[in-house]
Amino acid sequence: MFTPRKRKIHTAQDYIQGILNGDRTLLARAITLIESQLPAHQHMAEEMIQALLPYSGQSLRIGISGYPGAGKSTLIETLGLDLLKQGHKLAVLAIDPSSQLSHGSILGDKTRMEALTRESGCFIRPTPSGGNLGGVARHTRETILLCEAAGYDLILIETVGVGQSEVLVRSMVDFFLLVLIPGAGDELQGIKKGVMEMVDAVLVNKADGEHLPLAKRAAGEYQRALHYLTSATPDWPPPVLLGSALEKQGLDVLWQVILDFQTQQKQNGHWQKRREAQTLEWFEQALIENLQQRFFFHPKIQARLPEIRRTLQTLSLPVSAAVADLLDQFFSGSACSGETGSTDAIGTTVTSASNSGL
Ligand code: GDP
Repeated sequence: MFTPRKRKIHTAQDYIQGILNGDRTLLARAITLIESQLPAHQHMAEEMIQALLPYSGQSLRIGISGYPGAGKSTLIETLGLDLLKQGHKLAVLAIDPSSQLSHGSILGDKTRMEALTRESGCFIRPTPSGGNLGGVARHTRETILLCEAAGYDLILIETVGVGQSEVLVRSMVDFFLLVLIPGAGDELQGIKKGVMEMVDAVLVNKADGEHLPLAKRAAGEYQRALHYLTSATPDWPPPVLLGSALEKQGLDVLWQVILDFQTQQKQNGHWQKRREAQTLEWFEQALIENLQQRFFFHPKIQARLPEIRRTLQTLSLPVSAAVADLLDQFFSGSACSGETGSTDAIGTTVTSASNSGL
């Protein structure tokens, strides 16, 4: 008779040990806990992260961005296979803003990096679906720590060049690469200046066959454009490189640039400074998110908000007074400590707030 096998329930300690032993299955499940909204999972995730923190931080974190079709997955696969041969362990994570916007996914839907997925030294994690970009960023930061504790010394974070996600990726990597392809017409069209200001290198991909002359011209234009921008990393004018992920051209030069960057930045102290600044930025974002959540989900605030909104619409209350009123409510002992007592009559407090001249 067939008896279904029970899936073992793991403790936080099981996950911690498993990750330290480089167990990919437990690593994947631990990341699922990080992404979970359930309080029990979140507590376990916190315990794991706390325990694994001392084992993290040793990797080289690289961000790769570019429009769909630029050749990011081909590049990651070609370069990745080479780096695995050199003895590295590689984790590839994705931040895909499209999965939040359209519930589809530019990065996740197609079969990507097939050869890499078969390699035992490689761990690939697609973007979690749903949630906002801020949430995805937080999970990705925590995922980086777990991957590092599991022994991955190279972390690639891939994103699609459509705006906000680059800012997030830049805030969690040491080196940021933009992959572009030669196109007809004005090469700089469509590329936001802001994205160019974040890069540590640009790779003009598909510099092969009939595309080569166009690619060379594009590279010249990008280099000139970068010349007028402040570089993202002190003492590092970002180079523009030509390459072909498909024909494996120029990737050794790209890798050497990344290694030179690492050496230079570690020597001049900017590496550590950037990491410290990133941790503080992460902390501040997490604090703001947490406060925001506690504020808006607090029963007392939820009960008052509709009335406050209505009052604002009738222009009988200044915005500043409405804000002050709600903050007073939240920080006045009971709301802050999470007590869910009955709400005051809106009018009274609102009037006193506006009378106080706020
Ligand atoms: P992604 O969406 O940025 O991940 O792009 P892909 O890696 O999926 O590549 C998109 C298409 O461009 C595929 O058909 C690739 O085979 C092709 N491609 C990628 N790199 C190169 C390259 O260096 N040269 C040429 N000619 N084609 C490439």
